[in-house]
Amino acid sequence: MKLVRYGKQGTERPGLIDGEGQLRDLSHVVPDIGAAQLGHDALAQLAKLNADDLPAVSGKPRLGCPIAHIGKCIGIGLNYIDHAEETGLPIPTEPIIFAKAISSLQGPDDDVVLPQDSTKADWEVELGVVIGTRASYVSQDQALDHVAGYVLANDISERAFQLERGGTWDKGKGCDTFGPLGPWLVTRDEVGDPGNLDLWLDVNGQRMQTGNTSKMIFNVTQIVSYVSRFMTLMPGDVIITGTPPGVGMGLKPAQFLKAGDVMTLGAKGLGTQTQRVVAWGRASQT
Ligand code: ZN
Repeated sequence: MKLVRYGKQGTERPGLIDGEGQLRDLSHVVPDIGAAQLGHDALAQLAKLNADDLPAVSGKPRLGCPIAHIGKCIGIGLNYIDHAEETGLPIPTEPIIFAKAISSLQGPDDDVVLPQDSTKADWEVELGVVIGTRASYVSQDQALDHVAGYVLANDISERAFQLERGGTWDKGKGCDTFGPLGPWLVTRDEVGDPGNLDLWLDVNGQRMQTGNTSKMIFNVTQIVSYVSRFMTLMPGDVIITGTPPGVGMGLKPAQFLKAGDVMTLGAKGLGTQTQRVVAWGRASQT
């Protein structure tokens, strides 16, 4: 299943994308797509629906973040060997964990706003893991049982804030609009092996990132198990699993986002995102 939340920011309604790509309304079936809809039984109920019985939504409404009321979004840093190498940072021997502020999360095609004083805003296409059931100290064998599905993510990062301002990475990861998620939450059964997904990202039509999740240092199973040893993962939580090579800070010379740029990114089976980059104070959400 491909689950979505559609409509204006703050008043999104639940929906699904049927086999023909048609958006259908779910608001008479569930109040939203959030923690209560992501457990095994709740997803099984949704899977039994006949899409033809659901109202088709006309036009092309805005899509929002496909999960409501996310409790936490955890990022994994430097999780592809070739990306770690391009940053010049040491290859991790344990997963690097950082927190992505919930207030940074938004829909897949919403504008990305450069923060005040931003000089090094950068792109990062990633696979996001959506937790379906509470996970605390789970083994690798059990880890995938706690996953509801997957989502495409752009882990936008202000490198000067992240790496030159002291302390942890969080300052450069949590700026408003830095966490587009979506377009869809794709359930685990439909994605298949999360360890073999192609990822790509273009800036202004030029291919910058090409990767495959098979190149991860720590795979989804290892990541879910590992993170659950430090914090309880709750339904609706999201873990973004690191980015392949091709980010702006790895280019020679480095290249960063400027107002007017357009990012387009995608992952096999997870859909695509398009974001326009705008200067501070120039956001126009639709
Ligand atoms: Zn990242």
